[in-house]
Amino acid sequence: MRLVVGKEGARSSGELERYRAMRDFARTPEPSGEAASPPAGTGERRFVVQRHRARRLHYDLRFEMNGVLVSWAVPRGPTLDAKARRMAVHVEDHPMEYLDFEGVIPAGEYGGGDVIVWDRGTWEPHATDDPVAAVAAGDFHADVHGSKLSGRLVLVRRGEPGSDGKEQWLLLHKRDEHAVDGWDPEDHPRSVLSGRTNEEVKADPERIWRSDLPAAQASIELRPATVPGPTQDELAALDDLRSAGTWDVFGRRLRLTNLDKELFPARPGQAPVTKRELVRYAAQIAPVALPYLRGRALNMHRYPNGAGANGFWHKELPEHAPGWLPRWVNPEADPGETRTYLVVDEPAALVWAANFGALEWHAWTSRTSDPRRPTYALVDIDPGPATTWDDVVLLAGLHRDAFAHLGVRAQPKLTGRRGEGCHRNTLGG
Ligand code: MN
Repeated sequence: MRLVVGKEGARSSGELERYRAMRDFARTPEPSGEAASPPAGTGERRFVVQRHRARRLHYDLRFEMNGVLVSWAVPRGPTLDAKARRMAVHVEDHPMEYLDFEGVIPAGEYGGGDVIVWDRGTWEPHATDDPVAAVAAGDFHADVHGSKLSGRLVLVRRGEPGSDGKEQWLLLHKRDEHAVDGWDPEDHPRSVLSGRTNEEVKADPERIWRSDLPAAQASIELRPATVPGPTQDELAALDDLRSAGTWDVFGRRLRLTNLDKELFPARPGQAPVTKRELVRYAAQIAPVALPYLRGRALNMHRYPNGAGANGFWHKELPEHAPGWLPRWVNPEADPGETRTYLVVDEPAALVWAANFGALEWHAWTSRTSDPRRPTYALVDIDPGPATTWDDVVLLAGLHRDAFAHLGVRAQPKLTGRRGEGCHRNTLGG
């Protein structure tokens, strides 16, 4: 069993800088965020509660009014407990684009920290049809219909603004059929959008919020766009090759060899699996695999004579490798150690590895930009000869539950020629 510990997805500020540098905001249309308010007159108004770990934990309670989100920051969070009185600070209106924002606000920016959509739903004003005037008058009642919150919330201004110029209000829940004594928002920590906790979002954010950009551009998708797979024409061209030839795919020209070599023997009633099929498979899954391989040195386990023969590790990128292949030279390599590694930064590189006879692709747990710091942990569950698949699955589940107790998200990763299950662990930052 192997355990490597680190942080996955906790993108360093350096990476964000690079990300920013890569984007040309003047030219690239960014996700506009969904700014659409419901059509006037439908009466449907939205609210959201975001759990926001900035300098201090608080919950942001926001009501849609006239195209903006009228907002209060509630340090202890809203509650269904009718006995509770919560301090709420009336903060500036937020743009509608913020309604569904869940992700990370970069450190150093206003509100820097992590945000989840803790609750959301619809609301209607109570005892007024002019909620903006009710807020201005310092006495605002709303019936909310969320996933966690429901019933009547009351917000009352308590007095003059504090030294920071912000108004102190009081938030309470009316004693109605939705009230629950002792109800604590911290007992319900997961996002209603993603099911994730703040810690999990921080460890692997999907979005950042750039408050220095216009609202329509501020929510920025961090996940790399998926590369399109090979076209039907490209796959047909692979089938048309004889046992060797050149294949144009992903904008690269690859020289393929021994395409009819059997890599896996035939199963009963099936044809053997040839290198041509491995190459096709590598091309088809490259868009999916790329995010997990990109930016990491790749150790290849080669089986040039097929999976039935002995394989060997091949780490050094050979001299004959085409010049376009992305690579990394390990500056700390000792004499005799592998120096130049393949880095699958583009899909054609994975196709090249398949043609090279690499049946197993083992990316480093660290990135080449910081090779001494792994970003995730692996626990290998290697089955012995008497171990059944059900045993492996049970073991994997036990590991998952044990890690969950530590606040660590573990996900299964199936790899290896013996079908071993292995856990890829995501550590919260
Ligand atoms: Mn906030």
